[in-house]
Amino acid sequence: SRRIVTIDGPAGAGKTTVSRRAAGELGVAYLDTGAMFRALALALGEGGHRLPEATIDARLAAMTFALEGSGADTLLLVDGAPLPDAARTERVGGWASNLAVLPVVRRRLRLAQQALGASTDLLAEGRDMGTVVFPEARHKFFLTASPEVRAGRRVLQLESLGKPADYEAILEAIRHRDAQDQNRAEAPLVAAKDALVIDTSDLTEDAVVARIVAAAAV
Ligand code: C5P
Repeated sequence: SRRIVTIDGPAGAGKTTVSRRAAGELGVAYLDTGAMFRALALALGEGGHRLPEATIDARLAAMTFALEGSGADTLLLVDGAPLPDAARTERVGGWASNLAVLPVVRRRLRLAQQALGASTDLLAEGRDMGTVVFPEARHKFFLTASPEVRAGRRVLQLESLGKPADYEAILEAIRHRDAQDQNRAEAPLVAAKDALVIDTSDLTEDAVVARIVAAAAV
């Protein structure tokens, strides 16, 4: 079977950068599953989660996901194109979180994620990779950090994209999205029992990558 490494955790725990770098060092493809939820959110627009279930299902059935390249340079193509920067805003993250409570969405995206994992060695990053999508993965990690640290990181990330960032508003949005992700009935955000939990609040990015690579390389 394929080599699968999973990294889960809340928004802003530093998963995306760390995961991409760790995938590079481990020599496996990198899959950002949040990007799949964001792509759907962008395709359906604001209020997309209130559309009829059949409409959402049909849109998802028509959506294609592919991974190009490998390691840190892996590119996720949605309907043949990379995810636009517009999908990275906290606003679209909120829409994605609204959609993520719907069983029809989780089912379709889980199947798409598992299909990608069946075709290549993979480091899969998200909320339920170790618990639901790849329960058999050999190496599982759960990254956390305080909401304040996570909001601060999100501000830096948005500023680096040249987008305006309001710390207080982002902290509020992160708290809201955490609560929604943790309390939903379908695949709530929790660490898998066999995941290594890493609190990244006081760790450098280098230190987190090193810890993951050391544990997953064996
Ligand atoms: O990680 P990111 O912030 O891009 O994810 C956006 C939203 O997509 C999350 O808040 C969460 O609601 C949802 N998501 C999920 N399961 C995943 C990845 C993302 O429910 N595996």
